[in-house]
Amino acid sequence: MAQIQGVEIAKCSSCREPIGNQNSATWCLNCGEPLPEEVKAQIPRLAAFTTITTSKQQQTNQSQTSDGLVSAMHFIGWGNLIASVVLAFIILKNLGSASSPLAVGTIVGVIAQGIIVLVFCLTLARILENVANIRSRLEKMSTEEKPLR
Ligand SMILES: [Zn+2]
Repeated sequence: MAQIQGVEIAKCSSCREPIGNQNSATWCLNCGEPLPEEVKAQIPRLAAFTTITTSKQQQTNQSQTSDGLVSAMHFIGWGNLIASVVLAFIILKNLGSASSPLAVGTIVGVIAQGIIVLVFCLTLARILENVANIRSRLEKMSTEEKPLR
C-alpha cells in the first residue's frame, strides 16, 4: 500500500488507492494507472503537465482548421465537376444534336476541365494534409523537448 502524498483529492480509477494533492507523479503511485486530467489539474507540482496538454489541444484546433481547408478543396473540386457535367448537358440540349465536331469538342473540353480542376483540388488537399501532419509532428517534437531544457 503506497503512502498518500498530501491531502486526498481523488481515488485511483484502477486500484481505488487515494491520490494526494502532493502526488509526485502523473500516475498512481500504487499501480501506475495514469491520473485523469481533472486530478492532475488539482496537483500544483503537476501544473506543467497540464499546460503541455493544453498546448496539445491548441494543436488539435489548428489541425481542425486545415481539415476545414481540405474539406473546402474537396467541395470546390467535386462542385466544379458537377457544374461542368451540368454545363455539358445544357450545351448538348441547346444544340439538339452533338454530331458537330465543335459541339463534341466543347462538351469534352468542359468535362475535361472539370476533371482537371478536381484532380488539382484533390492534390492540393493532399498537400495541405501532409503539411498539417508535418507541422503537428514538428510542434510535438518541440513540446517534448521543453522539459529537458
Ligand atoms: Zn492505482
